[in-house]
Amino acid sequence: MTRVFSGVQPTGHLTLGNYLGAMRRWAEVDQYRADSLFCVVDLHALTVDHDPARVSRLSRQTATLLLAAGIDPAVCTLFLQSHVDEHTRLSYLLECVATDGEMRRMIQYKEKAARVRDRGGSVRLSLLTYPVLMAADILAYRADEVPVGEDQTQHVQLTRDLAERFNQRYGHTFVVPRATVPPVGARVMNLQNPGSKMGKSDRTGAGVVYLLDEPDVVRRKVMRAVTDSGRDVVYDTAGRPGVTNLLEILAACTGGNPESLADVHDTYGSLKEATAEAVVEVLRPLRERHRELCADPGQVEEVLRDGAEKARAVARPTVDAACRAIGL
Ligand code: ADP
Repeated sequence: MTRVFSGVQPTGHLTLGNYLGAMRRWAEVDQYRADSLFCVVDLHALTVDHDPARVSRLSRQTATLLLAAGIDPAVCTLFLQSHVDEHTRLSYLLECVATDGEMRRMIQYKEKAARVRDRGGSVRLSLLTYPVLMAADILAYRADEVPVGEDQTQHVQLTRDLAERFNQRYGHTFVVPRATVPPVGARVMNLQNPGSKMGKSDRTGAGVVYLLDEPDVVRRKVMRAVTDSGRDVVYDTAGRPGVTNLLEILAACTGGNPESLADVHDTYGSLKEATAEAVVEVLRPLRERHRELCADPGQVEEVLRDGAEKARAVARPTVDAACRAIGL
């Protein structure tokens, strides 16, 4: 059976980008067709300045939202990365096959490091080695597929390179995984700045739709989205990034095709209204289930405890084999 692994960082409140780019497919498709593991990657949240209590709180909130989105622990495995030591054990072994040049070429590292330096901070070494830990997350489970948004494809490519190199040098140990990216919604852009992706750690939330935003807040954010200087609704990523982003979001929420939706809406106003309503409808059941789950936090803790146990049982033999192969 195909094995799927994917993760989400507890670095902020989950966004519509996380949902349309990744989580929705995990819940609606992947968990039913594959042996799936989904992980709240809390160790990754330590690569930048963080408040320890907030990371702990967001880890639980992220897990709760994954359950609210439909992740079902009866058919898949949901857990916190830090509960399974195999991730860090394997990460060190992979650091011994990765090169520093490879790490410095990662686009996300360059962008995040520049942001840290712009604020006068110093870049943590773990920010540079983050993609190695991510490779360990995936390879420890011998995953075949990694369902992610477009921003993560470079890291999955690096994971493939490290797996192939390790296998070649030390004998076949890892499955070489591939990224799977959704046809629409793979790159949801910030509503106020359609040149950059909608990220959960964006400094201002005005252009970011959070999964727990109230319907009126969602409507206001979408209605205030930056559009382009033209008047007609055209699908054109380079020339009309703002309008194109709305068309993508609308298509991802309604199951339509972004290019044909451009013909349905004559004005930016009509496109924004339709998009706002579609987003509110997509988030409604999720918000309701989240409210129910919050009434019983013990249930989430139990899911995470059981999940870690299941995950450990899968990861340990592979990481043990990697240790033996490399000479330990
Ligand atoms: P973030 O950048 O919000 O911190 P993560 O690194 O935790 O996101 O990613 C969790 C998943 O959500 C990944 O599969 C990632 O590719 C996807 N994702 C994040 N932002 C977006 C976006 N704006 N559009 C589409 N997918 C996204």
